[in-house]
Amino acid sequence: MSRLFCIANQKGGVGKTTTAVNLAAGLAAQQQRVLLIDLDPQGNATMGSGVDKRTLPRTVYHVLLGLATAGEAVVRSPGGAYDLIGANRELAGAEVELVSLENREQRLRDALAPLDDAYDFTLIDCPPALSLLTLNGLCAVQGVIIPMQCEYFALEGLTDLVNTIKRVHAGLNQELELIGLLRVMFDPRMTLQQQVSDQLESHFGDKVFRTIIPRNVRLAEAPSHGLPGVVFDRNARGAQAYVSFGAEVIERVKTMRVA
Ligand code: ADP
Ligand code: MG
Repeated sequence: MSRLFCIANQKGGVGKTTTAVNLAAGLAAQQQRVLLIDLDPQGNATMGSGVDKRTLPRTVYHVLLGLATAGEAVVRSPGGAYDLIGANRELAGAEVELVSLENREQRLRDALAPLDDAYDFTLIDCPPALSLLTLNGLCAVQGVIIPMQCEYFALEGLTDLVNTIKRVHAGLNQELELIGLLRVMFDPRMTLQQQVSDQLESHFGDKVFRTIIPRNVRLAEAPSHGLPGVVFDRNARGAQAYVSFGAEVIERVKTMRVA
């Protein structure tokens, strides 16, 4: 049975895709069978996994609209040792096309059900919006991982996201829970970041992952080589942090109730 998690935050540029790609590679490096799903029309998780989004015959768009099964859309990340269902610009159209379909929030969940035994972890990289695509992500998973930078306005955005998770939990997916908040692009020399980090811990307690991902340029360089940072330079501080984060996630799911 697969553990399914969304990497979500409605803000752009906060480290969702970097977290999704590197957690996928970090879990794979620890002998986990991983499927990564790119649910963002920007296709950054696809490109960052070393798969050319422009030449993919089948993507998550086809899966959502019932034009392909999830199994048919799976490709292998050449560098990452995990499987991928990719995305490209076509996915932007799905938002409109889904509206008139039955079960429009549950399309991804239904499509992924046949793959449940094939993976230990399924990770979904969400777009930067609380859209119908993100709703499909939230309906398909048991948990949400929220990457965030420790900045002043980060806390404000968090309230909206936590409320969305509560609404989805109440109305659409009773399995859904917040797995944890991940501090990313962290720079301990910034007093404000340290303060926000402390605030997060006192507010959210053990919902804050122990692992902190530092700001590390090697993580930012990796996508242009079509590799996860964890593979591109595994000795870099950022890569090591994501491997530790993978271990923490494996440990944390052991204490989750089985649905
Ligand atoms: P999102 O998916 O939320 O839009 P990304 O993962 O694409 O965010 O990250 C935004 C930018 O920040 C990218 O250019 C990425 O390479 C860079 N980045 C992400 N995490 C780190 C980090 N820990 N250190 C340095 N740069 C990072
Ligand atoms: Mg992204």
